[in-house]
Amino acid sequence: MAATERLVIIGGDAAGMSAASQARRMKGPDELEIVAFERGNFSSYSACGIPYWVGGDVGERDGLIARNPEEHRARAIELRMRTEVTEIDVAGGRVRARDAGTGAESWTGYDKLVIATGARPIRPALPGIDAPGVHGLQTLDDGQALLDTLSRTEGRRAVVVGAGYIGVEMAEALLKRGYEVTVVNRGEQPMATLDPDMGRLVHEAMSGMGITTVSGTAVTGILTGDDGRVRAVATDSAEHPADVVVLGIGVEPETALARAAGLPLGRHGGLLTDLAMRVRGHENIWAGGDCVEVLDLVSGRERHIALGTHANKHGQVIGANVGGGYGTFPGVVGTAVSKVCELEIARTGLREKDARAVGLQYVTATIESTSRAGYYPAAAPMTVKMLAERRTGRLLGVQIVGREGAGKRVDVAAVALTAGMTVDQMTALDLGYAPPFSPVWDPVLVAARKASAAVRKERG
Ligand SMILES: Cc1cc2nc3c(=O)[nH]c(=O)nc-3n(C[C@H](O)[C@H](O)[C@H](O)COP(=O)(O)OP(=O)(O)OC[C@H]3O[C@@H](n4cnc5c(N)ncnc54)[C@H](O)[C@@H]3O)c2cc1C
Repeated sequence: MAATERLVIIGGDAAGMSAASQARRMKGPDELEIVAFERGNFSSYSACGIPYWVGGDVGERDGLIARNPEEHRARAIELRMRTEVTEIDVAGGRVRARDAGTGAESWTGYDKLVIATGARPIRPALPGIDAPGVHGLQTLDDGQALLDTLSRTEGRRAVVVGAGYIGVEMAEALLKRGYEVTVVNRGEQPMATLDPDMGRLVHEAMSGMGITTVSGTAVTGILTGDDGRVRAVATDSAEHPADVVVLGIGVEPETALARAAGLPLGRHGGLLTDLAMRVRGHENIWAGGDCVEVLDLVSGRERHIALGTHANKHGQVIGANVGGGYGTFPGVVGTAVSKVCELEIARTGLREKDARAVGLQYVTATIESTSRAGYYPAAAPMTVKMLAERRTGRLLGVQIVGREGAGKRVDVAAVALTAGMTVDQMTALDLGYAPPFSPVWDPVLVAARKASAAVRKERG
């Protein structure tokens, strides 16, 4: 018996396949046929794990695959691999797709459509950018290509372009592989997702690890040798010798198909949705993951944030809604955590410049503390910076840089932000304490106390 409805999904990774799985939990194959298109070679894999696979912490590539195409098919999700959707015909309710193996193109009709096309790594049109030895890092194929280059390359000098979280994670991976690592970064400090004063701590720690970080410098080209391979990365002021180059310059929403179909895009180029992740103005089209813009609950603005944690949640909300249930994604507070070697880096909410951009006045408090009671073995230092709104004392943001045990402390602040707490209210939070886990005053609470005092002082 034919299913009563057909759901078509474009993109077979986090958002797309979460949506497929959730929809399938809600409706059986007799009610809902699910057809998903994925142009790549893998489905449902963790790009987040690639730096740790390249660095050798994760041994096997397949460990990063949550569910392969056969496993999806066993759950009655028809996943067409290596098949790219080339057009969405919104008026006709159909998509055109090309099978990379045969080159054949065909149309597939849909009752409901999910767009989960992810993001595209930024690859500036610089001389030499496509030279052998220069690698972007987005898919498992990219990770494998980099590993192949590393195994073939005798030289041991690596240059990472970009010092966002992927850049610093790749710096760690290459260091672990025995490379001499230089990170070239256009921003004032590494980790532009932090304020520069906190980014400076990252810079200092990376220098201590033997990673050379060159900030405030734009790459002007990739220089190649007689063999055509990369030999150096050129900036305005210097040449950095390189046997391998990894690009981590950031991503932008992959929305060319959506744009061509006339679907609504925001100022960052991402699809615009309502709270149910339905594309605005389109009753039967949903979108989620790195291809959409999300509402920043702290600033009230739309942002493009490419994170797997959001993509999975979007997928689940979409799956519930297309499966006849109900779910919403209210927005984000901008929480992210990463690490470079033993240094943990976390943030949530607004940086100083974000607060200024939306006209919020604020006070800041920065404190030094430790991950455990100071007398307990392996107590590690950490710095916590907190922003609170002037006068009201509402928490606006937290940044943390420190050693083991520092990063995930940001989650307390993320909860406080979501709940709209003031820094004064935070000082009374009943957080767990024992010497192996924290000082008697957790570092986040110490920062809240200092921020609260700053707010009171401002009030006079
Ligand atoms: C190296 C690296 C490290 C990361 N680390 C973290 C981390 O620590 N924490 C975190 O939260 N996030 C992390 N991320 C981000 C996270 O991986 C992404 O946010 C997440 O994968 C987004 O899921 P998505 O489904 O929206 O998009 P994607 O995972 O990009 O999937 C989109 C899929 O759509 C397919 N597609 C696109 N267009 C078409 C088309 N026309 N037809 C058919 N198929 C199409 C693509 O091939 C792709 O497989 C990392 C990313 C990278 C690259």
